[in-house]
Amino acid sequence: MLYNYPPEATNGNWLHWCLAQTLMQVHRELDLKKTLPKWPLIIPDEYREKLKLKHGLRDKLKTYTNALKGLSDAERQRVLETLVSQNQIRRVLCGRRSCKRIDSLPETIREPAKDLFTCAFGLLTSLEIRDSHYQTIYKRSDAKLCPFCGLEYFDAPGAPREDDDHYLPKSQYPFAAANLWNLVPMGHKCNSRYKGTADPLMTGGGIRRKVLNPYGAQCFTISLIGTVPLGPPDGITPSWQIAFLPSFEEATTWEELFDLSTRYRRDVLDPHWQKWLEEFGAFAREKDVTDEASLRDALASYCRIMRAWGLSDRAFLKSAYFDVILDEFNKQNGHIIGLLSRITYDR
Ligand SMILES: [Zn+2]
Repeated sequence: MLYNYPPEATNGNWLHWCLAQTLMQVHRELDLKKTLPKWPLIIPDEYREKLKLKHGLRDKLKTYTNALKGLSDAERQRVLETLVSQNQIRRVLCGRRSCKRIDSLPETIREPAKDLFTCAFGLLTSLEIRDSHYQTIYKRSDAKLCPFCGLEYFDAPGAPREDDDHYLPKSQYPFAAANLWNLVPMGHKCNSRYKGTADPLMTGGGIRRKVLNPYGAQCFTISLIGTVPLGPPDGITPSWQIAFLPSFEEATTWEELFDLSTRYRRDVLDPHWQKWLEEFGAFAREKDVTDEASLRDALASYCRIMRAWGLSDRAFLKSAYFDVILDEFNKQNGHIIGLLSRITYDR
């Protein structure tokens, strides 16, 4: 991704922790063959008042508990381990923790687990936890756009809600379905057209891979170095080389999940590079460019401006493109110098 979300956006994660603690108690009491406290006494004290009238949650918890009672001690232990591992999200994403999917558990517990946590996810809206989570992210973001593509702008809080992606999909990792560390605001295109319900932890070939943590400190930049700006076969259309830097495994996962090379090439670079050159031409004429030396100065200045724009208005791609142009100019690429002089001082 192009920037990270602030970890403090997850400060309101109490519903997830409350449910996790409740389930730990359920597992403990069943292991000890004790009678379970009735609803709402099963809920930890500090959250009981907020949840005691949430009858949907009560009913789903009852169904889950009954399903657990039908399992052997060893099977219940596996369920508990899966519950824990699916929520050690930071360690799971960076590959330091193994994580089982729900389909590795006995069939009778799968739907009750999904229903329980889907119900809890629904409560995040009515308890205004999702809105508060999004507000923190929106406020702290300079660019206010989807960090997974850099192309989709986020609407302000109060507008119809942006998509909240279950980063580890709830179909396979339901125990993390209401965990804010697993919920990431995402542009609608990234969420529904590209990532969908893909499992970020696994390649298409079923190999475990590393995934960047949206709330971590690792983000990436785009480089077009290696691009031939006036490429074959027509000598006009650029031949793009798109790289995601630094070239860690997490960058490859990100690129694959969101099909970014294709999208950048097809939806931004191919349709816009000529317009970008025209914009530069207008800029350079304002700078009174009259020869190759002043043209080069204007180009270097334009590159600095594009870099300063950061993620705004796709400047991270424009900046990468003009870095290539400047590089070619400095290498005395006659075609590039000729092209730029024609659109600036030699019209
Ligand atoms: Zn996006």
